[in-house]
Amino acid sequence: MAAKKDQLKEYKQRRNLKKSPEPKGKVSKSKKKAKVPIFVIQKHDASHEHYDLRIEIDGVLKSWAVPKGPSFDPKIKRLAVPTDDHPMEYADFEGVIPKGNYGAGTVMVWDMGTYENLKLDSMDDCYNHGRIEILLKGKKLKGTFALVRTLLHNSKDWLLIKLRDEYASAEKNPVSTQKKSALTGRTMAQIAASESKKK
Ligand code: MN
Repeated sequence: MAAKKDQLKEYKQRRNLKKSPEPKGKVSKSKKKAKVPIFVIQKHDASHEHYDLRIEIDGVLKSWAVPKGPSFDPKIKRLAVPTDDHPMEYADFEGVIPKGNYGAGTVMVWDMGTYENLKLDSMDDCYNHGRIEILLKGKKLKGTFALVRTLLHNSKDWLLIKLRDEYASAEKNPVSTQKKSALTGRTMAQIAASESKKK
């Protein structure tokens, strides 16, 4: 199990949650082991557009920023930079983080679903060892993916790699062909416009 320290400390420190509509966040205490773990990928139009991959591990969403987003081509290794753990409620956050706040910009739930751990070790151990292999059951992403911590000296970066299976494809490019929200069907522009109307 995770240590007792607040896993969301960095998440809270970086944000002014009185000014941003993002979830306040607490570590999920649910002990119900029957629940299937989830993942989400949020397209985030911040200073640089990127895709935030978040995987439920031990009551929080472990997170990586993937600048180019996922690929279905097993030959392509996509850089995945680890970021702060996010609260579980963040999984269905879609909207606009106001200017002047950390991560300011439009956030879309680009993909969402459940996953299966393909390794015999717990997800927590896989994360700590820097080697995760999961079967994604999302609306856009399906099949097996690996997240691997790079072995380069002092690097904290990971790589997101499609594993070979019936969903692998060098032609399919979900990032450029599937541009609408998995949660609401909206485009980035529609999300941005509807949030500015609220004011
Ligand atoms: Mn982000």
